[in-house]
Amino acid sequence: MSSASEHKQEFIFRGIAVSPGVVHGRACLLSRLEPEIPSYPISSEQVDGEIARFEDAIIATRQQIANLRDQVSQKLSEAEAQIFDAHLLVLEDKALIEETIGELRGSLYNVESCFNRISQRYIDFFSNLEDDYIKERANDIRDVTRRLLRSLAGESQPDLASLSEPGILIAYDLTPSEAALIDKDTVLAIITEHGGATGHAVIMARSMGIPAIVNLAKATSRIPAGCQVLVDGYEGTLVVNPTTDTLFRYGEIQVHKDSIRRIFLSELEKPVETADGQEIILLANIEGAEDVARVSESGAEGIGLFRSEGLYLRSNDFPSEDEQFEEYVKVVRGMEGRPVIIRTLDLGGDKVLSKAMIGLGENNPFMGFRAIRFCLKHKEVFKVQLRALLRASAEGDLKILYPMLSGVSELLDSNQLLEEAKDELRKRGEKFNEKVEVGAMIEIPSAAQVAPELARHSDFFSIGTNDLTQYLLAVDRVNDEVAHLYQPAHPAVVRTIKQIIDAANAAGIPVGVCGEIAGESAYAALLLGLGMRELSITPPNLPEVRYNLRRLELQDMEDLATKALECWDPADVQQLLDTFTKERIKPLVQDAINTLKAES
Ligand code: PEP
Ligand code: MG
Repeated sequence: MSSASEHKQEFIFRGIAVSPGVVHGRACLLSRLEPEIPSYPISSEQVDGEIARFEDAIIATRQQIANLRDQVSQKLSEAEAQIFDAHLLVLEDKALIEETIGELRGSLYNVESCFNRISQRYIDFFSNLEDDYIKERANDIRDVTRRLLRSLAGESQPDLASLSEPGILIAYDLTPSEAALIDKDTVLAIITEHGGATGHAVIMARSMGIPAIVNLAKATSRIPAGCQVLVDGYEGTLVVNPTTDTLFRYGEIQVHKDSIRRIFLSELEKPVETADGQEIILLANIEGAEDVARVSESGAEGIGLFRSEGLYLRSNDFPSEDEQFEEYVKVVRGMEGRPVIIRTLDLGGDKVLSKAMIGLGENNPFMGFRAIRFCLKHKEVFKVQLRALLRASAEGDLKILYPMLSGVSELLDSNQLLEEAKDELRKRGEKFNEKVEVGAMIEIPSAAQVAPELARHSDFFSIGTNDLTQYLLAVDRVNDEVAHLYQPAHPAVVRTIKQIIDAANAAGIPVGVCGEIAGESAYAALLLGLGMRELSITPPNLPEVRYNLRRLELQDMEDLATKALECWDPADVQQLLDTFTKERIKPLVQDAINTLKAES
């Protein structure tokens, strides 16, 4: 048997595997976020040609935005589609067009450089105005400028919300607001040149079950648009023009992985306890109400982290109290009385809502105006969310979690606003759970240090190891230059987790981990050994962790933790984890494979 792709040369590229799965399909290139802007002199005879190019690009861009608008209106809503009306208006702005043509005639430079110069002038002007609404216009112009420059360069750019047929997205980088728009049915896999394993776009891909590879060097320039590619999200390998043999081999791998997964899923009715009978609670991390179905299928006993900002990023706006209530109540009802921990808005860092963050120009966004800091400044935005959460608390076991607390005063201020929100609801005669539980996320070293005091004012702790690692080690979680230094196995992280557990135990409040390491079996074992009894995991990873923990003895996990606490070198902790994986966890998976073979 032969295939068209066998006539072309097969190439293999490697990156870092961040979301598992094997798929193949057509490569759709999302070119770099900032298009390159050529700049060269032209002769006066070339002016008319440049103007014609400009007009063609405007028509093509207008068509592209109109298509995108239609797609968004169908997939999301008409309200969300209206963002693109503002973009269309930019393209009809006479001043922008006429000034560009004037610049072209006057300077005798190519149209890209003239258009970029003029639009930049407008962007700077609008960004520096006080009025938030007008500032937003700068963002519209920036977005349209990028599109138009790409059209001038002849680049076709698929929009995330509108891949017309299923494909594999190859991008320079991906922001969480772009990832929030991804359609699971058309984006089969995601490949990026940059980005770390714990960036929020990657976390979203993982939770949607979309295979992903990051750090694939020069992916957008080396992978031809439209060619067939095969993605191995287990190993981080991408094969361009795979031969039939390669497709067959990977097909076998996927069949094999699927069978093992079925074994992991086959015992969801059995209790979640270690081999020696220690009960543990496994919860799920979700990004939105649409994930609820997959939570139940994964065997989770509830939701340990609902990252509510997805709601804001998807609509690129601040959703109203009713819109939020609808979403939260859907989750609470869907979980039928099981616990649902909803984290309040964690914008900032890599999660930028243009409406709120435009003009901020932060040098260190992860250390800047993020999460609770934003909410405590924009109290009304925060209270809209708190009221929506409180109303949904009347319908089930909803708990509220504050992200990125750096100390006690932020917790007290947040609780004060929660009380005000309760008063407002009482006045409106709305129902809510008067005793709604409130948790503190421990993900900043200073919070870990004052954990005993935080515990006095919270009902539970949830440790965010993604950020705790970033802030303890001063390693940006999305910067691939320092990705090798991002080590959750660093003894400082291990010891800090232990301190937080001890503080929670001393105060008699529950503590869980909701960072990505909870979804890796060896780390999960280490966490249990440190005394953790609750883990919140992205649903696709949960069945495997559940399967393994049910077969491990707590004593062995405690021995692992004792040894890890004695280390000073991250490499030694990593070695302990690798040995534990090799000697304790791999054999369990091998047993699963043997069972499978015996059955077939
Ligand atoms: C964390 O920091 O570990 C966490 C769970 O939150 P996020 O990844 O959304 O910052
Ligand atoms: Mg965090």
